[in-house]
Amino acid sequence: MNIILLGLPGAGKGTQGNILAKIFNLYKISTGDLLRDEIKKKSTLGNKIKTIINKGLLVSDDIINNLVENILSNKNYYNRLIFDGYPRTLNQAKHLDLLVIKYNQKISYVFNLKVNKDSIIKRFLGRQICSKCGLVFNEFYYPSTSENHQCGPRFLQKRSDDNEKTVKNRFDTYTKETAPILNYYKDQNLLHEVDGLIDIFLISKEIRQIIRSLET
Ligand SMILES: [Zn+2]
Repeated sequence: MNIILLGLPGAGKGTQGNILAKIFNLYKISTGDLLRDEIKKKSTLGNKIKTIINKGLLVSDDIINNLVENILSNKNYYNRLIFDGYPRTLNQAKHLDLLVIKYNQKISYVFNLKVNKDSIIKRFLGRQICSKCGLVFNEFYYPSTSENHQCGPRFLQKRSDDNEKTVKNRFDTYTKETAPILNYYKDQNLLHEVDGLIDIFLISKEIRQIIRSLET
């Protein structure tokens, strides 16, 4: 089975992807990983990507589609992929469908890890990084205490780009951009909405239950 995990940055896609990969013996890939791997290979495409990223520009759909095709055409990954945060646009979703058909595979499940605006704002605004040891805390969800953190609270810092307006904008943009993708998969009966705010083990349990109930 091939699985797609969608959700805002911070919704826990990476964590869930890793758990699912382990349980079902799948490979998790994100476009970030694909881009980094290609750059590491120092291929012609890799060098091109490096230039684009260094200029602060966005990598085009064409390049992303090429990298995804490389993965889908690789027999080692045949029907064993978890896409983390991909597709990001409706065009990418449609192209993925073409590739999946071309390589005789299918998308079995699309999971959307749902988080609401207030909680995602709290998640980002509460984030604190210790400038001394690098540990990350959250003043609302995972505060620094004498038990989990030796340095104490005095080195805790907030990231300057984590202000409320930026986070709200990010949420609104994401919601607007992904709505067509969610509808696209809903129409194909592949979309499963999962609460992304509960405990990570409960989330993965829910996902596994959905998969098991439909695999049999
Ligand atoms: Zn520290």
